[in-house]
Parts: sequence; C-alpha cells; structure tokens
Amino acid sequence: MSESAQSQASGAGADAAQGLLTPDGWQALSETPDSYGAYPRLSDAQITALAACGARRRAEPGETLFRDGDPSCDFFVVLAGKAAVVEGYGSPGQRLISVHGAGRFLGELNLLTGQAAFYSAVMAQAGEILAVPEDCVRDLVASDPTLGDLILRACLLRRSILIGLGIGIRIIGSRYSPDVGRLRDFAARNRLPHRWEDLEADPAAESLLRQLGVPPEDTPLVILYGKQLLRNPSNATLAAAIGLPAAVPAAAVSDLIVIGAGPAGLSVAVYGASEGLSTVALDATATGGQAGTSSRIENYLGFPAGISGAELADRAVIQARKFGASLGVPARATSLRQNGGHYAVGLDTGEPLPGRVIVIATGARYRRLQVPRIEHFEGTSVYYAASQAEAQLCRGDPVAIVGGGNSAGQAAVFLARNAERVTLLVRDADLGKSMSRYLVDQIVRTEQIEVLCHTEVRELLGEDTLRGLVAEDNQSGARRQLDARALFVFIGAVPATGWLSSQVMLDDHGFVLTGLAVTSPAGTWPADPGSRRSALETSLPGVFAAGDVRSGSVKRVASAVGEGAMAVHLVFERMQSG
Ligand SMILES: Cc1cc2nc3c(=O)[nH]c(=O)nc-3n(C[C@H](O)[C@H](O)[C@H](O)COP(=O)(O)OP(=O)(O)OC[C@H]3O[C@@H](n4cnc5c(N)ncnc54)[C@H](O)[C@@H]3O)c2cc1C
Repeated sequence: MSESAQSQASGAGADAAQGLLTPDGWQALSETPDSYGAYPRLSDAQITALAACGARRRAEPGETLFRDGDPSCDFFVVLAGKAAVVEGYGSPGQRLISVHGAGRFLGELNLLTGQAAFYSAVMAQAGEILAVPEDCVRDLVASDPTLGDLILRACLLRRSILIGLGIGIRIIGSRYSPDVGRLRDFAARNRLPHRWEDLEADPAAESLLRQLGVPPEDTPLVILYGKQLLRNPSNATLAAAIGLPAAVPAAAVSDLIVIGAGPAGLSVAVYGASEGLSTVALDATATGGQAGTSSRIENYLGFPAGISGAELADRAVIQARKFGASLGVPARATSLRQNGGHYAVGLDTGEPLPGRVIVIATGARYRRLQVPRIEHFEGTSVYYAASQAEAQLCRGDPVAIVGGGNSAGQAAVFLARNAERVTLLVRDADLGKSMSRYLVDQIVRTEQIEVLCHTEVRELLGEDTLRGLVAEDNQSGARRQLDARALFVFIGAVPATGWLSSQVMLDDHGFVLTGLAVTSPAGTWPADPGSRRSALETSLPGVFAAGDVRSGSVKRVASAVGEGAMAVHLVFERMQSG
C-alpha cells in the first residue's frame, strides 16, 4: 500500500503546485484524488454523528485550522470549500502535501496518538468546517466500528504517506556520526515521519547550519516543525518534544508493569487494562518490537492479505490506550528488585516504578554479523530491519541480505519492489531449510532477487558507505565480489535479558525460565507448598515472562500475543492467591 499511497500524494502535483500556495493561487488548487483509501469522504450519517459533539462554522480562505507543531488540535471535517495540507506553511520552504474538499477530514495518526501535528492545514477556498474535539473523536473511534475503522485506516495510510515523502522531523548531520544513526533509527522504529540531510553530501545542509549558527560539534541538529532546534538530543528529549507519551502510572503502586512493548507486551497491556488492572507498559526504543520492523506479516491470524508490523503495532497501541493502559517510550528497564510487598523496576529515565506484578516481555535483538568493519557501516549502510524507512534509503540501489529465515525472506520480497537488485546470501545449502514455503515461492517468482546458498560474507567494501562485499562459497571456498549499497542482516536473535542480572533464572542461552523449567533456588519461592508456580511464572513469584524472551517460546507474533493474553490470566490467579 504505502508505495502507491506515496506516489498518490506526490502524483497529485504537490511539488508542482508550490507556486499556488498564495491567496492568488488558492482557486486553482484541485483536490488530491483518493485512490487508496487515505482520503475517504465521510457519509452524511457519519458527519451527523460527529456533529453531535462538534461545532460547524464558516471558514475563510487563508484561515489556518492548525499549524506545524500544534500539540493538539480539533478533528476538522471540510463541509464546503477546500483545505490545503502544507508542511511549513508560510515559510520559504513550504511544501504542499494534499488538498481536500467537502466530506473529507484533516489530520493523520497524530490525532489518535497525541503527537504534535507535522504539518499545517489552511483553508484554500471559503467554505464551512466542522470542528470536533480530539477526545470526542477518540471516543467515537473506539465505540463506532465503521467510522472508527475508516478514520483509523486513513490515519495509518496518511502516516505512511508522510514517511514516504520525508515530511516532518529534519535530522541534519554527518553519515559518520553514530548519533545520526541513533536518531534515524529511533525515528524509523517509532514510525515518525522524518528526513535526513547528510552534511557530507548536501552543501545546503552545511550552509543551513552556518545560518543557524550551529557548530559541527553540536550536530546532529534536529529541526522540529520548522522552528524548534534540538542539538544532538537524546532519544528521550526528542520523544518528549514530539509528544510521545511518558509512562504515567494511574496508582502509586501499579497492579501490573510490563517491560517491553513488542507483540507480547502490547498484548499484556491490552488484556491487563481491559480487565481493569492499572497497567503500565514500557519500551526502551519503540512500540512493536521486532514485529514493528517487519514489512509484512503474512501468517498472523485474521489478516489474509498480510499486515505490516508498523500497522499492527499502531493498532495495538491505540487499543491498549483505549482500555486505559499507560505506555512509556523510551524507557529502558535497568533493574528489578523486591521492595517490601511489591517489585521496583529501575529505569534509565528516572525514578523506579513500583508494581505488584511484573511481566518481562523484552524479546530478543538481532545478532551482529561477524565480519570486519561492520560497525563502520552501521548507521549508514548496514541495517537490522527492513521497514519503509530503510526501503526509501536504498531505492534504486543493489542491496544484499544475509539470513535464511522468514525475516530475511520477507525483507528480500519487500526490498525487491524498490531496489535495483537484491542478493540473498544463505549459509545453508537449501533456502527452504528455515524459511516458510510461501516465502520461498515468492522469492523464486521475483526476478530481482538472486539467491546464493551456502554463501557467507567475508569482507565489506567501500570507504565511507558500503560499495560492495566479498562473498565466499562455503563449500568450494570460491570468492566473488558483489555490488551492494546496503546490507541487511537477519541472522537470529539473542534475548534481551542483560538488565535482569541474576534476578531471575535464565537458561544457558540467556532466555528466561518459567513454569516447570525453573528449579527454584532456596529462598525465592514462598514456603507454602500450596502456592505453585504457574506456567509463565519465573523463579520470582509474581514475575512472569511472555514472548520471545521466554525459554522455549515459539518465535512468532501469534504466540507472543497469545502468551501475553495467557500471562494476564495467570497474573489474576497470582493476585488472588496473594
Ligand atoms: C524482520 C522480522 C520479521 C518477522 N516476521 C514475522 C512473521 O512474519 N510472522 C511471525 O509470526 N513472526 C515474525 N517475526 C518474529 C516476531 O516479530 C517475534 O516473534 C515477536 O516480535 C516477538 O514478540 P515479543 O514481544 O516477545 O518480543 P519483541 O518483538 O522482541 O519485543 C521486545 C520489546 O522489548 C523492548 N525491550 C528490550 N529490552 C528492554 C528493556 N530493558 N527495557 C524496556 N524495553 C525493552 C524492545 O525494545 C522491544 O520493543 C519477525 C521478526 C523480525 C525481526
């Protein structure tokens, strides 16, 4: 979807229409066509439902309905006339994104997530608008399935368009700066629209820094909403400036603290909060976890056409909030200790969070490829995820992927849509050994993908960014050079349990032991023989583990979600047994 949806926005003549963004040009603006469902027209009945908690009013040409950076704004429906959606309205670099007439609504995902607006909306022609308070729209989305789904789907598509067009946050810095890599990764993982201006390749970026009086040692510079400058901000500072929510516990001691907001953690948040537990979920980087980096999950029940990990995550976050869960990103758990009758989760962002019951859902991280100079290229040409953001960066280039599992297969199929050529390097002799049949079939059918089995990467070539690599046939020892401007690595995962130190028992590979697999060390379990450890409970009573982090878990989205739901049931049992 995103691909076509993006070209829909730019294909509307957005760039060509820049000159029309003056009062004289307003009349000539034509409405952006809606070919993919990003700009649906509301029915009369839907407008009537929204009008019940909104206000109609006349709007004049040039009237600004909301501006870039507004922390919150009403939900606007155009009833008559036309509204233009513009990045940096009124500035020399203003950019027209789309134009909307009667029956269409304005805004995108920020309406539902509480983030600030990434663009302005301005009346291009006189007309009438309906302004509905944000809270009221969130309630309607939650209670009216038809209207809710229409708005939600359009908002998700619009976010995808913004990401594709590079609207939003500007990150200015050198490709050699690890902080540039960190900020770009944070923006991509959190599905924040952004663009990167490379100081090494873009003279305009350098002169902008001079104009702003920002010395190179203060870069990367982040420009928000065309006006707010952040000099090498931490992820937490950037998150706060954009309006990503911090965790706000509803009680002095929360019933349930979930650490990690991938599919397992989000599932715990949804089920815990919907069952009335005061629930806080934290994530060190972004909601969605590994699944959030997947371009298309095709084997998750109920989505026959597949669903992108980003969409699945955004939907789950909205659902968890609807039930009252508090989600905090970024917030990294650094410790877990018993504190009187409850647990305290230490955080890198502030005071420890107290909770009666804890669910560990910190999942796993992808392994680094053991090849010289890999760290030199990380942040510029080596990636551990293949989402829309990465696909944009290597459009038209030859790329290489290392790995033989489903994540490598998905990445190959996804990247082949934009890349000039994709080379998939698989260590085993048979592609079907660890990859699902449906993906193998798709790969075989895709001309742009070349598969090299029993092949491993030995060298990375290039000075500043990747130019190519040397691959070795691990049967014959023959080496060959391949062109590649980007390398994607999907070679298995290690559990994210380092922060637990020795608090809970782990297996030999570092995954958390639960249920019968735990052989309780003395003193960690109540003496009462009637108090049995449940299936997902760790060596500490009241501390559970769900999803990929758990020893013996099936590494799938569906099982992570299922374990999250099951954990909540077991949490209730533990609470009742005291
Ligand atoms: C590219 C890719 C494609 C995939 N495709 C599929 C597919 O098609 N079908 C399928 O079924 N499965 C797929 N998987 C596997 C699936 O995504 C995982 O099994 C699933 O995400 C596991 O969920 P989880 O919540 O247990 O852990 P994760 O998704 O790993 O989430 C864990 C979260 O915990 C956070 N975290 C870690 N440490 C801390 C800490 N100390 N404090 C706070 N937060 C922390 C992380 O930031 C992360 O967000 C894919 C995986 C990848 C990488």
